[in-house]
Amino acid sequence: MGKNSLKKVLLRKIPVQLATEATISQARRHEKASYYIKAAVRMINHKRILVMQLYSRKDLILGIKEPRIRTFLTKTDYISQCYEEGTVKWRAGRLDSLLAYDYYSKEEPVLCDTASERAVNTYLSYTENERIKRSGYAKIREAQNMILEQRLQKKHAMIEKRIDRKMQEVKPLPKDFDDWIDAVAMAHSRYIYYRYSRKKYMDGYCTHCHQEVKVHKVRHRAKGHCPKCGVKVIFLAEGKAKHIFDHGQVAYFQKTPKGFLVRYFSVSKSYYGDYRNPKISTKELMREFYEDSLVLGYEYRQFKQTGKIRWCQDWMKYSFLDVAVYTKNLHAVLKNTRYQYCALKEFASRWDGAAVNPYGYLKRYQSMPEIEYFVKAGLYAMTYELTSYSNYAYRVQRNKKSLHEMLGVSKQNFRFIQACDMSFYQLDIYNKLCKQGVNLSAGEFKRFYDTYRKNMDVIFALLQYTSLHKAERYCNGFIDRQYDLLTIMGIWKDYICFCRELGYDLKNSFVLFPKDLIVAHKLAYQDVLNRREQERRKKIQQEERRAKRLLKKYRNLYAWKDNRFAVVVPKDLLEIKEEGHTLHHCVATYTSRVADGTSIILFVRDLQSPDKPFYTMELQKNEIIQCRGYSNHVMTSEVQEFVKRYESRVLKKIREKNAA
Ligand SMILES: [Zn+2]
Ligand SMILES: [Zn+2]
Repeated sequence: MGKNSLKKVLLRKIPVQLATEATISQARRHEKASYYIKAAVRMINHKRILVMQLYSRKDLILGIKEPRIRTFLTKTDYISQCYEEGTVKWRAGRLDSLLAYDYYSKEEPVLCDTASERAVNTYLSYTENERIKRSGYAKIREAQNMILEQRLQKKHAMIEKRIDRKMQEVKPLPKDFDDWIDAVAMAHSRYIYYRYSRKKYMDGYCTHCHQEVKVHKVRHRAKGHCPKCGVKVIFLAEGKAKHIFDHGQVAYFQKTPKGFLVRYFSVSKSYYGDYRNPKISTKELMREFYEDSLVLGYEYRQFKQTGKIRWCQDWMKYSFLDVAVYTKNLHAVLKNTRYQYCALKEFASRWDGAAVNPYGYLKRYQSMPEIEYFVKAGLYAMTYELTSYSNYAYRVQRNKKSLHEMLGVSKQNFRFIQACDMSFYQLDIYNKLCKQGVNLSAGEFKRFYDTYRKNMDVIFALLQYTSLHKAERYCNGFIDRQYDLLTIMGIWKDYICFCRELGYDLKNSFVLFPKDLIVAHKLAYQDVLNRREQERRKKIQQEERRAKRLLKKYRNLYAWKDNRFAVVVPKDLLEIKEEGHTLHHCVATYTSRVADGTSIILFVRDLQSPDKPFYTMELQKNEIIQCRGYSNHVMTSEVQEFVKRYESRVLKKIREKNAA
């Protein structure tokens, strides 16, 4: 606690004061206090210190005079001694938290005599102001809170100073930075505003080259190119687009004494009011200092819940994942760092406003320096995935000499992959197409991917029966207002599944390409339903036949009775089902098991009404698995006795015979 620190060696020597008889009798009379405080100011080492002894009321009532706690307080510091189980421990906490430690009542401590009150009131008078009067323990609490607050402010001031010192490494931005943001980084925010008219050529204005242009055959929100400067633009009808507001993220790299720094800005561009003079506002929100293997993050936000907005340490609030990077100075900044050859400049300038995750990129480059080759080969989509997401790294086979080996494809296929700038998902699609023997040009592949990306399964299912060309030509013939291409393909795929189930010859092109697919699908569907119903019935009949044969055999073996009950073998499966319906249990679902002999179902009947379902018994391997009555009720004791006899007289014998 600095030079004002209370010295334990000296404090320890202050004699402990025992509670007086007056305090004890006060404790015995008063109920309303948890602790009694004896306070006095003492000169220790030329310093006035408020020394307080806290006696617990519980102790005092029992006549124990030793204090539980001694607290030493100055204007800048405090410390306490706690007496616990015969030992003394130093505690740095405030009294409030020390007392909460063995908290048994909400009653506050009180000062035990006028001398103590005077000492506290005088010594801690600074804790009061005109508005708030405090007395006794409240003064002590306030004094400790004030010290704590001072310490926190001191700590914050130190942190702020350290951050400010770091921020001195930040140098001014280049003069062309704002122009670059407008002209390059915000490439997604380029428009031609046109004034709608019936003339062939309408008057327009390009927000990129700032020139008047003539446009024709354009729709509001359509994409196109500026006839003057050639950049990609979106056409906007002047009257329909008054509130265009675009966001962007940009980053600027800068050298520092220990490495380099990345500065992240959030950008917004508003065309509100006058689209010829859009307003761009830029806010710098994050800084990352790269120093060898270390990355230090800072953010512009509220500092430690103090309400103060300033640079703070650590990442908490912002994420800059799709960032346009200022590349002019990148080679110079990264020179002689571990990122010198990371090819970030090439990747970030692949097109205007290209999205980069700078932190992810630099981190991935550390674990996978191969991304340099990916960038240089023009595999931008894969580089983006590798550097923006964590779950793509496994797609690259390490320790290979060349890129086609890293991706596990042939040299020839690699050239095609490169020409298409495929993503990893596209690569999977491409590999599947190769396996199916489908050969496409780069343009065809792009079209294929765009057409089927939403439902790749359907097209690949169809490709098992026909070529892509034939499939598309056939399906295109059925497209109308109700059915688009993918719907038709789905219907066709269903139809083919039905044909397979029905055993039709799909090698026959009349079967595979029915003249009217919609009708053919409907008919095949009906046929499938009929066929399934027929098969279900056939199965039941077969079961019934097999079961009958078995049940006949069982009759001699399992039927048995005494003078009250009987075990009856069912005649057929129908009888078992009826038993289940009458008794409200699920024996009807056992018929397949009965037919194949894994279960034997027997009826227990009362001889007074031998045709009425009573209890149902299941045997497996000649052991009773269950015996249930109405609604699955358990056996009455009479039935239980009977079943026990049946078990020993009949089943046991069958088991013994089988074992022999
Ligand atoms: Zn233009
Ligand atoms: Zn269908």
